[in-house]
Amino acid sequence: MNVAGVDLRSDTVTRPTAAMRRAMAEAEVGDDVYGEDPTVNRLETRAAELFEREAALFVPSGSMGNLISIKLGTRPGTEVICEQKAHINQYEMASMAAIAGAFPRPIPAEDGILSWKQIEAEIRPKTYYFSQTALVSLENTHNMAGGTLYPPEVSDEICDRAHEAGLRVHLDGARIFNASVALGATVARLARKFDSVMFSLSKGLGAPVGSMVVGSRDFITQARAARKMLGGGMRQAGILAAAAIVALEESPKRLVEDHENARRLAEAMAEMRGVTLDPKKVRTNIVIFGIERSGKTAADVCAALAKRGVLASGVGKQSIRMVTHCDVDRAGIERVIAALSETLASRA
Ligand SMILES: *Cc1c(COP(=O)(O)O)cnc(C)c1O
Repeated sequence: MNVAGVDLRSDTVTRPTAAMRRAMAEAEVGDDVYGEDPTVNRLETRAAELFEREAALFVPSGSMGNLISIKLGTRPGTEVICEQKAHINQYEMASMAAIAGAFPRPIPAEDGILSWKQIEAEIRPKTYYFSQTALVSLENTHNMAGGTLYPPEVSDEICDRAHEAGLRVHLDGARIFNASVALGATVARLARKFDSVMFSLSKGLGAPVGSMVVGSRDFITQARAARKMLGGGMRQAGILAAAAIVALEESPKRLVEDHENARRLAEAMAEMRGVTLDPKKVRTNIVIFGIERSGKTAADVCAALAKRGVLASGVGKQSIRMVTHCDVDRAGIERVIAALSETLASRA
């Protein structure tokens, strides 16, 4: 991406800030597989504290954090209930099946937000000749539904009822800090009833690499072993954890700007001919819009936008995703609006 461009393909494209790079250069390190990296230990303690839980584990990616949580929450041959467009169902290389031996039972839900009623209907009967439901996984914010949010009372009810039914509940909270800002509730509040939580440091929070898994001490002890089994034991990982600590302390308070930028983008788009989008549904940093009425394909529109210095992702034949983040300011957003408007108005 050239310096003049605006990259809205994902919030993963964010680059470490000067403060992060400084912290990385100065990080105290040790061998984390021996538990001797003081910076990783500090990050894990801080994450546990923020979530008001017993323990946390630094993992190389969100995908690994989800896989570890699913592996520990299931046995081979059991099922995982999730939403149809969930990241664990669509974008994790079928790892829950290939590695954990678990089987996804996806349910399509409006705006990606499941209710207990929908979940309850998919729990397998307790009969020996049926595979058994073991885990429910919710995604907050829901990425492919456009950064949508679980009202806390909805996710609370799902956790309570699932626990009564003998199921475990995992939170794919890659963007739980975005949810926290949008809902005006702490991450501890939003995540408190889940057995396990994964959140990303490398998305809106802007750290270069890494995610966290949070839960009970016993769960995290097992997660540490599972991480090693998957090849995720890292040595002087304090270099990465140092940037992650800065991300955790400094970034959540600025996510509101990303949400305002997404809202501005959505409101401008809703006025454009050829775009289908309800701007009221854009509450965090993800804008997914349809271009069916323009008669163009997402591939063509994305290519034309790229020529104008704007990068976006096609997420369907005629739908496009744009994600706001700390490396895009309001002027960048205005450029995106102009570029999209020109692109849709052009004949090609
Ligand atoms: C990005 C993402 C992940 C996975 O994170 P990686 O670090 O890219 O593996 C998991 N869940 C959701 C909802 C995501 O958006």
